[in-house]
Amino acid sequence: MQVSERIVDLVATGVATSRSQLAKELGLAPSTVSTKVAELMTAGLLAETGDGPSRGGRKPRVLTTAGTGIVVGVDVGARHLRLLALDLAGTVLQTGEFPFDIAAGPEVGLDALALHVERFALDQGKRLLAVGVGLPGPVQFPAGTVRVPARMPGWKDFPLRERLAQRLGLPVAVDNDTSLIALGEVAVRANRTATMVVVKAGTGIGCGLVTSGAVHRGAGGVAGDITHVRVDAGADIPCGCGNTGCLETVASGAAIVKVLQGNGIEVADTGELARLCDDAQPEVIAAVRTAGRLLGEVLAAVVNFVNPDVVVLAGRLASLEAFVAAVRGALYERCLPLVTQHLEVGVVTSGKDAGARGAAALAAQVALTGLPA
Ligand SMILES: [Zn+2]
Repeated sequence: MQVSERIVDLVATGVATSRSQLAKELGLAPSTVSTKVAELMTAGLLAETGDGPSRGGRKPRVLTTAGTGIVVGVDVGARHLRLLALDLAGTVLQTGEFPFDIAAGPEVGLDALALHVERFALDQGKRLLAVGVGLPGPVQFPAGTVRVPARMPGWKDFPLRERLAQRLGLPVAVDNDTSLIALGEVAVRANRTATMVVVKAGTGIGCGLVTSGAVHRGAGGVAGDITHVRVDAGADIPCGCGNTGCLETVASGAAIVKVLQGNGIEVADTGELARLCDDAQPEVIAAVRTAGRLLGEVLAAVVNFVNPDVVVLAGRLASLEAFVAAVRGALYERCLPLVTQHLEVGVVTSGKDAGARGAAALAAQVALTGLPA
């Protein structure tokens, strides 16, 4: 964590609210702290309120993050944008969902993104400091350029970060949605030492890795991709990547929907699975369980290899009890006892806001320290 990030964190959590307390906590010279605080105040990241209690001398001015600016996180889905406004103390101020059509291409998408972010921030009545965006596909980070997106037709190589930053006149960061769910979970759990495996199981499957509290993106930004691991159950089912038999062809929401449709059950998309599970239709529960077990079996290799504290499940399938139970069952059955001994297998804390919460966490980092190199 950089000095400015630590200062805002100490002030936001109330650990240190004066320049002298900050200097003591950080072990820095008072003049260094004063300079940093002045910079942060100019940037709208810190403010001063009244006077603190005096110990004989001049009353120290109390620093606060309240009333300073906000950041907005956006989770881009195929048909919706989910937005979340966050203050620098980490308080969620507002969330909202708006219709969006990713298939309309990047120029139309950029217009819609800019418009919704501006309107949403305006509603908060506070200065917008930075914006974070999560996309459902591989992103070159920190450049924020879309790579080879199976679910984003026409977006290949689109420099979204650069274009949106120009448009809004603000710092913008763009990353893959699963990496951002991971980042958001670290922020919400306030666990900066965690080793975490985060799986987004929705219409498709994504996986992210956190080590020592930081997202591990890998050399090419695609670390954690278990989506296209070949599994026997996939046989010769074609996958969007061009191969056959990938995990996504048997364990994703789209795969479950396809199996059910093949059995004559009326279901249009992953979103409808929750309703069908609530009705406890045996074929539906069985298909959901099978998908969960197949995901768990592939995940077991990852969990053995990484030895995480937590496996976090996110995405629409994470709201299905039968799915979560099947993943958990496969992990406990297939992983080494030493690995599962202290392993928590849970569901993402922020629910359907998880992607937007992570995007806002990234935006807060960018507001405080700029885009990571
Ligand atoms: Zn594939």
